Amino acid sequence: MDSKSQNLFDVLVVGGGPAGMAAAVRASECGAQVGILDDNPTLGGQIWRGDSPDSALDEAAKWRSLLRSQNVSVLCGKRVFHQPAPGVLWAEGNEDLIELRYKNLIVATGARERYLPFPGWTLPNVMGAGGLQAMVKSGLPIAGKRVVVAGTGPLLLAVAAYLRKHGAVILLICEQAPFRAILRFGASLLKWPAKIAQGLNLRKEIASVPLAANSWPVAAKGRGAIESVVISRAGKLQTIECDYLACGFHLVPNIELPTLLGCEIRGGYVFTNEFQQTSVPGIFCAGEPTGIGGVELSLLEGQIAGLAAANSKSRAQALFRKRDKMRRFARTLDRTFALRPELKKLATPDTLVCRCEDISYGRLQQHSSWRSAKLHTRCGMGPCQGRICGPATQFLFRWTPDSVRPPIFPVRVDSLGATLSKESDQLVAGGLG
Ligand SMILES: Cc1cc2nc3c(=O)[nH]c(=O)nc-3n(C[C@H](O)[C@H](O)[C@H](O)COP(=O)(O)OP(=O)(O)OC[C@H]3O[C@@H](n4cnc5c(N)ncnc54)[C@H](O)[C@@H]3O)c2cc1C
Repeated sequence: MDSKSQNLFDVLVVGGGPAGMAAAVRASECGAQVGILDDNPTLGGQIWRGDSPDSALDEAAKWRSLLRSQNVSVLCGKRVFHQPAPGVLWAEGNEDLIELRYKNLIVATGARERYLPFPGWTLPNVMGAGGLQAMVKSGLPIAGKRVVVAGTGPLLLAVAAYLRKHGAVILLICEQAPFRAILRFGASLLKWPAKIAQGLNLRKEIASVPLAANSWPVAAKGRGAIESVVISRAGKLQTIECDYLACGFHLVPNIELPTLLGCEIRGGYVFTNEFQQTSVPGIFCAGEPTGIGGVELSLLEGQIAGLAAANSKSRAQALFRKRDKMRRFARTLDRTFALRPELKKLATPDTLVCRCEDISYGRLQQHSSWRSAKLHTRCGMGPCQGRICGPATQFLFRWTPDSVRPPIFPVRVDSLGATLSKESDQLVAGGLG
């Protein structure tokens, strides 16, 4: 790593979704020297990646233009994987390794889908709901394809609407939550007028698509790729022929980086004070790692974190009321789309749970903790580093993942070499070499 690749920022933002973009804009408006970094080729995060739903376009355009109007250093295609020393992060790009130094850090690393194992879930064309949406955004042709959307959470509706707009035939949306929970959720939207508008738009876009509550996939079948899915629909089994199963069970926060940085985690989310400050001084967190609450909450938390990190606490305080109201929406989401116990019984002994290392449910049943399973089977030690099987085993066995160790993502051998040589330098400097 040469000195040219080193950067020092008053405020460094990791994650370029809505939360990160809002944080960078507000911190820069306060005069701070700001850098924002994301592992995708462009900013926008999950929702504003590629083209977005029409209703989101104005909001995305607004934040993109605000960011352009500020003197913010934008680093795309760079993924943070290590903190070699306090105030220093390392990120890997396609061909380079950069060192970033910060006075204040804002972690806005978003969330990912939760997948649950069931027979056939590893067949080609069984995909995450948001995953299939992302592939279509990247050019996968979906017109005329028969898609079943299944799992839980409002993302299913957004994905169904998006795929339908691009020509897919949505055969059914299966929502595992009970019908009465969905009705209660619909009624509760009156408290969040922006959500009512979003809900009505979605309803219009997928008005003719059947939605079944109390329903979930039991098995995906096919030779070479999915050909049909067996659904448990209000207690009865039904087989539906399809080309794709888009399946996700709500979202799990990306807390690996804040955990590595030593931030306190409570109830699975990064704990922050009212200014989005974590338990580590100088490190703030905004957006989905603090709770799954949708784009409005991410934007509000991002703004508060940006203002607080740039020392403009009174402007940050002015946003508390709106943020707290949206946090109540996040709690409603968690309650409505809580996973039902029947989903724990979908995997059979030979169903793969860790698909990177080919570890079956039956092999994991022989262990009593994540650590034991990891040590004896290599569960969670493949390329996804437990990002897929970790949340699944947490639900299936109530296992808590171990502490996080660098690198938090798989990296190239030369980046790993730099990590190791820095660590041995530190040992020598500390007299332990
Ligand atoms: C797959 C998926 C699809 C979704 N689609 C929709 C949709 O269609 N409609 C909708 O309303 N909501 C959607 N959501 C929910 C939506 O993402 C959230 O409501 C909200 O926008 C999250 O904003 P955020 O800024 O907190 O996080 P994100 O938008 O997730 O942004 C976080 C960013 O940080 C980056 N990142 C993470 N770790 C690192 C690292 N170590 N180094 C560098 N960069 C890093 C990520 O790649 C990502 O770009 C989707 C969520 C997911 C997971």
